[in-house]
Amino acid sequence: MTAFVFNEPNFDDHEQVIFVSEPKSGLKAIIALHNTHLGPAMGGCRMWNYVNEAAAVNDVLRLSRGMTYKNAVAGLPIGGGKSVIIGNPKTDKTSSLFEALGEALDRLGGRYVTAEDIGTSPADMANVAKKTSFVAGLGETGDPSPYTALGCFVGAQAAVKFHLKRDSMEGLVVAVQGLGHVGFDYARRLHAAGAKLIIADIDELALERARMEFGAEVVSVDAIYDVAADIYAPCALGATLNPTTLSRIKASIVAGGANNQLQTAEVGDLLRQKGVLYVPDFVINAGGIIKVCYEYLNKPEATVEAHVREIGSTLLEIFERAAHEELPTSVVADRLAEARFRH
Ligand code: NAD
Repeated sequence: MTAFVFNEPNFDDHEQVIFVSEPKSGLKAIIALHNTHLGPAMGGCRMWNYVNEAAAVNDVLRLSRGMTYKNAVAGLPIGGGKSVIIGNPKTDKTSSLFEALGEALDRLGGRYVTAEDIGTSPADMANVAKKTSFVAGLGETGDPSPYTALGCFVGAQAAVKFHLKRDSMEGLVVAVQGLGHVGFDYARRLHAAGAKLIIADIDELALERARMEFGAEVVSVDAIYDVAADIYAPCALGATLNPTTLSRIKASIVAGGANNQLQTAEVGDLLRQKGVLYVPDFVINAGGIIKVCYEYLNKPEATVEAHVREIGSTLLEIFERAAHEELPTSVVADRLAEARFRH
């Protein structure tokens, strides 16, 4: 039989990959610890109806690696990991399923700490917590997304300072794609700083709220790529930066909270060639993990904001290096992370 994990395109010398099966609850899960040099691996638990086991392996390897990079660049004392539960989050959830996951995490003795992710909720994490203390983001101090939005805002400020040589957002036009937990709060901050907003979402209610509160101009979900804007802020889906959208986007800065914005790594270089300053997604959207990590480590809530604001100075360092070395910002961000966790 061919090696199934070691040959996987997303396998990147992950330290440990654990397959968990617990027949009573029906739990089938995979836990991947990518790198723990900086501390215990932290990253959410995704529940998804994967088409097959290979798709689940692919996802957990890719996502856990991403967490190592995100946590390292954010300057957190944690490594990268992720877990996936194979199942339909709408129909297959039971408390015993998450308790069984908690038991599996407990056996790992703290090498991996989980949290909520797509398909799981703070309530599910509370069930995990019945069996282990290696779980974060139980919602005790609320939703982390306002901190993600704060990180996006300071990231956009850094980009404007570097690329447009401006200290103010006054009068800049920002195209915000997705007015959900992150996008709405980010839009609120942009509006308060004097930016004009053009917005798109599939949720009519969110659009109406943003139109009323921020005087935002609404366009269709497809038209958001064509609008005349200074900043494009993807806050909904992944892979929105691809050769097709690149030929349409007018903005000279991309600064948004969505994960995995580049369809392929090459798009980072295409953006650079086009003179667009791309703010690497995993750097700008780390506010939420900073908040969750602080909560887990019992650090005072009051210190979270200062750490999230450091995203701005980290980004300025990345922009300067990228310009100096004539490299895409995405490549420089990866190298910065690697220098921190590969020691
Ligand atoms: P959310 O589900 O609250 O919001 C997403 C919004 O996008 C919704 O309003 C939805 O209607 C809208 N949307 C969906 N399809 C769309 C389309 N085709 N065009 C325009 N809008 C569309 O999610 P969120 O928590 O705000 O997260 C947004 C993005 O940021 C995701 O990619 C997420 O992975 C990433 N992210 C979130 C956090 C966090 O703290 N919540 C942290 C890091 C990264």
